[in-house]
Amino acid sequence: MEFMFYMPTRLIFGRDCIIKNRELLEKTGKKPLIVTGRKSSSMNGSLDDITRVLGHANIPYSHFDRVESNPSVETVREAAEIFRSEGCDYIIGIGGGSPLDAAKAIAVLASNEIDDNDLFSGKYRNRPAKIIAVPTTSGTGSEATPYSILTYNKIHNKKSIASEQIYPEISFLDPKYTETLPATTTINTAIDALSHSVEGYLSLRATDIISPFALESIEILGGCLHRLSLGESPSRLDRDRLMYASMLAGIVISHTSTTSVHAMGYPLTYHKNIDHGRANGLLLFQYINFLERTHPRVQEIIKKMELEDLSGFENLMNKLLGKKEEITEEEVALYSETAISAKNISNTDPHPDLEQIRNIYRGSLRVV
Ligand SMILES: [Zn+2]
Repeated sequence: MEFMFYMPTRLIFGRDCIIKNRELLEKTGKKPLIVTGRKSSSMNGSLDDITRVLGHANIPYSHFDRVESNPSVETVREAAEIFRSEGCDYIIGIGGGSPLDAAKAIAVLASNEIDDNDLFSGKYRNRPAKIIAVPTTSGTGSEATPYSILTYNKIHNKKSIASEQIYPEISFLDPKYTETLPATTTINTAIDALSHSVEGYLSLRATDIISPFALESIEILGGCLHRLSLGESPSRLDRDRLMYASMLAGIVISHTSTTSVHAMGYPLTYHKNIDHGRANGLLLFQYINFLERTHPRVQEIIKKMELEDLSGFENLMNKLLGKKEEITEEEVALYSETAISAKNISNTDPHPDLEQIRNIYRGSLRVV
């Protein structure tokens, strides 16, 4: 047996966990830059909880609320400027994957004036600013990962930063913030989390210590996704389960990285504006179908999700995703070229060649 396990983030889970653990937030620094998207953090109560604690302790703050979906390098550079000019000393990222991933890149740029190559290198001379993460969706697992995924227009794709220096210092996971999420977001983010666990469990880099995290997450998400596929709105307990399982999945990919599904999903998001979780969901069945003959763990996934067989998985995904997007042969060719050069493809066991990648795209969308 051989493994390495590293998880430096203090993960605090539970309803009202920010208020209940306010002293941890109060002693993090002198002036945070709060990083959010435009609206959701003020609607779901998360921003209120944070500013209440800061106000109570007389801690001043600045607020950058212009993080877009799939944040760009330009946006995080702009926010880092504000961090410096406002004299901030740490960052509080509140939101779905986009604000949390942006917060991590801003933390790097806040203390390092570097070009894009160095930003994506993952090695920084100056320690990035401390990050507090407050997830308000249950999907990306960014609260428990050393990754920041940015839109990088220079390469016409998304690109990730991986660095142990950008693990959040503390993540506050309060499922109540997810209660107002629309059904589509709940489904897409849950599928993203499932994709993390499934890819991690099937990854060449899966280890003995990480596999139970993946299986636990797959089992929980399997149950929740089944209920979501019936059109049920998630119970309070399911909101807890979804957030817990997505955090576990984040811990999984922190150790295994993602694989072909994410590598192939990024071009769908960049070029066709398909939501990240949905893009993974479209590809997931064809991916496990591709691995099924050679990878004994595929059957374990099916069993954990309490599905009869592989076609049960396909049916579940079809129900959740509805009508699939179209793709042309030109797009298949372009996206496959992009995907095969992504570094996470090589974590797939065995990794697909160019024609196999094309076939996964063809089988996952409607070829026109
Ligand atoms: Zn993902």
